[in-house]
Amino acid sequence: MDHAATTPVHPAVAEAMLPYLGERFGNPSSVYTEGREARRAVEEARAKAAGALGADPSEIFFTSGGTEADNLAIIGVARALRDRGDHVITTAVEHHAVLEPCHFLEREGYRVTYLPVDGSGLVDPDEVRRAITPRTILVSVMHANNEVGTIQPVEEIAAVCREAGVYFHCDAVQTVGALEVNVDRLGVDLLSVSAHKLYGPKGVGCLYVRRGTEIESILLGGGQERSMRSGTENVAGIVGFGVAMELAGAEWRRRSEHVKSLRDRLIEGVLESIPRVRLNGHPERRLPNNANFIFDFIEGEAICLRLDFLGIAASTGSACSSERGEASHVLLALGIPPQKAHGSLRLTLGRENTEEDVDYLLENLPKVVEDLRALSPLA
Ligand code: PLP
Repeated sequence: MDHAATTPVHPAVAEAMLPYLGERFGNPSSVYTEGREARRAVEEARAKAAGALGADPSEIFFTSGGTEADNLAIIGVARALRDRGDHVITTAVEHHAVLEPCHFLEREGYRVTYLPVDGSGLVDPDEVRRAITPRTILVSVMHANNEVGTIQPVEEIAAVCREAGVYFHCDAVQTVGALEVNVDRLGVDLLSVSAHKLYGPKGVGCLYVRRGTEIESILLGGGQERSMRSGTENVAGIVGFGVAMELAGAEWRRRSEHVKSLRDRLIEGVLESIPRVRLNGHPERRLPNNANFIFDFIEGEAICLRLDFLGIAASTGSACSSERGEASHVLLALGIPPQKAHGSLRLTLGRENTEEDVDYLLENLPKVVEDLRALSPLA
C-alpha cells in the first residue's frame, strides 16, 4: 500500500525490456545493425510516451527519472533565460526534486517565491498571478502532491502563466497513469514524468518540452537526446517506459476507478473505527489512490514498522522525509503543527490491491494504533 513510493513493473513492460537486456544490446549511436535496432526501439518508445501525453515525439527528452526531469526543467530554463529575468515561482509543497534545484538557483543569485497552500494543500491561481513580476521567468507547480494527494488547479495556473508570458513547468510524476495528463489540455510548457510510478522500471522518465521553449542542457557530454541530455541512452529502461506510458494512456481511467473504490472504503473504515484521526489533503480533489491520515499521540514511523510486521507496506509520507526523520514540509505547509505532523500515515493503492487487502488493513490498524497509544505518554 505504498504505490506513491514506487510500483511493480507491469509484466508486459518487463517482457518488452528483456531483449534489450540480452541480445539487443546495441548503442543507439552506433551506425551498424545493432545500433540502428536500438535507435529504432528508443524512437518507438518516444512516440509512445508522446502519444500518452498528447505531445509530439520531438518534445520528449528521456531522463533518468522524475528528479532529473525536474532539475532540467528548472535549472535549464533559468539558465536559458538569465538575461531576461531572475525570478522563479513555485510552491511550499513541491517534491524535493523541485525544491532543491530552486534552492540551488537561490545560491546562484536567482530569487524564488515559495507560494503557500491552504489547509487542504491547494494553491490559489490568484496568488500565482500576484507573485508574477516582470523579472519572472518560470512557474513550477506540481499536478498532484505525492504525500497528501491534493490535485492542483493546473489548467488555471497555466492560463495565468500564459497570459503573463511566463513558462509553466508541472511535475506530473504522481498523476500519469492515474489522471488524464494531456499537455495541451493542461496548458503546460514543461512536464516531468517518472516510469517507476506508473508500472515501469526505476531510473528512467522524461521531460516534455513544448516546441520553441528556451531551455539549456544541464548534463554535458556526447550530445545524445538532441544535446538536451548527454549520456548513452538507457535503452531497456526507455523501452519499458514506452510500454508503461502506452498502458497508462489506455488504462488510467480503469485503474483510477479501481483504486478509488478501494481508497474510499479504506478512508471510511479508518475514520469510523479509530478515534482521534484526521484525513489530510483535499477531501475530493485528491489522487484516486491516496489516503493520508494523522493519528494523534503516536508516530507514523512506529505505525509503519508495526504494519510491516503484518506484511503491510506503508509510509509516513515521502520516502525522503522518512529518511531525514524531519516532520514533512508538506504537512507543515498545510498548517499542521510539527508534533502532530509526526503522526502521519500514507496509504497509496495500486492496480493489484484488492478489497481483501483493504479489509486486512482495517482489521489490523485499529489494534496497532491502540497498542501504540497505550505506550505513548502523550495519549
Ligand atoms: N516528483 C514527485 C512528485 C515524486 O513523487 C517523485 C518521487 O517520489 C519525484 C518527483 C522523483 O522522481 P524519481 O524517483 O523518478 O527521481
